Amino acid sequence: MKDWSAALAAIGGADEIALLCHVGPDGDALGSMIGLGAALRARGSRVVASFGTATGEPFAVPPTYGFLPALDLLVKPDDFPVAPEVLVTFDTGSLDRLGSLADRVAAAGTSVVVDHHATNTRYGSVNLVDTDAAATAVVVAELLDRLDLPITAEVAAPLYTGLVTDTGSFKYVATTPAVHELAARLLATGIRHDLISRAIWDTASLPYVRLLGDVCSRAELDASAAGGLGLVWTTIRPDDLVRHGLGLADVEGVIDVVRTAQEAEVTAVLKGEPDSGAVRVSLRSKGVIDLGELCVPLGGGGHRYAAGFTSYDGFDSTLDRLRDALSSAPHLPA
Ligand code: AMP
Ligand code: MN
Ligand code: MN
Repeated sequence: MKDWSAALAAIGGADEIALLCHVGPDGDALGSMIGLGAALRARGSRVVASFGTATGEPFAVPPTYGFLPALDLLVKPDDFPVAPEVLVTFDTGSLDRLGSLADRVAAAGTSVVVDHHATNTRYGSVNLVDTDAAATAVVVAELLDRLDLPITAEVAAPLYTGLVTDTGSFKYVATTPAVHELAARLLATGIRHDLISRAIWDTASLPYVRLLGDVCSRAELDASAAGGLGLVWTTIRPDDLVRHGLGLADVEGVIDVVRTAQEAEVTAVLKGEPDSGAVRVSLRSKGVIDLGELCVPLGGGGHRYAAGFTSYDGFDSTLDRLRDALSSAPHLPA
């Protein structure tokens, strides 16, 4: 579902535009938001961008994405307009994923939702949702073309960041010929794709490497889970983070190592927020189970093979509820 004409009318003529992406932003959330923001600023609009934080957490760009250009578009949540005339959200499948800034959607004159999540709830007054798109950055590239705005290097670097993040470096199934064509177009602007990929995939701190060892060494296989398809799971407890001096934003990549265990269809990493006691669950499947659908009744969402939810009842009962949901999990067509 894509309301192109309404989106072009709202964004095309706007002098002031406010942009938001989901809490705990990843490369696609930040990249698609900053990419559009840089293009709109270059054409003369006043642009502010932000994302909500968990209670008590300071506002900070995840260090991994510190290389992005145009990060000066970002303002702290407290400085974000209370009732923007035009609001655009990125990579955010449901209102709650905007965290402390979710109320800006109802307060906005027009809210444009730019996203690709299968579980998107269409919470905007205008929705540009393409559930086949490999990344929200792909939808942004099309929006820029329709707005007739040029994709300069300053725009291309964030969009490439979104594309490379959500395709796992062009490995996942959503990597179509059109994705490679867009990548080629972005590279042609002269961006340093090698440095972008190194920052995202090949850079970590020694404390992170040590934490990875800890949490991987206690990964468990529950072979009977998911109707016998199997679950591999591990936890990142608040004391793991404290012991290694890391935050939740630093451990996003742990699941990409744990999920390589071939013994199970589903991988779960349960991550405890140090202050709130909330447990953030990251899930990946190998293609049989639809995790996005699985997570909706658990209060979360996502894509078919990558999804998540947040839980407030501790590690043990969260794992119980996950096992329960997996026992009657929706299967994708063969
Ligand atoms: P992650 O495991 O954090 O990399 O997230 C994988 C996918 O699931 C992403 O597309 C997220 O947007 C989605 N996701 C993760 N956590 C949640 C949540 N609490 N609610 C909705 N979607 C989520
Ligand atoms: Mn995202
Ligand atoms: Mn995305």
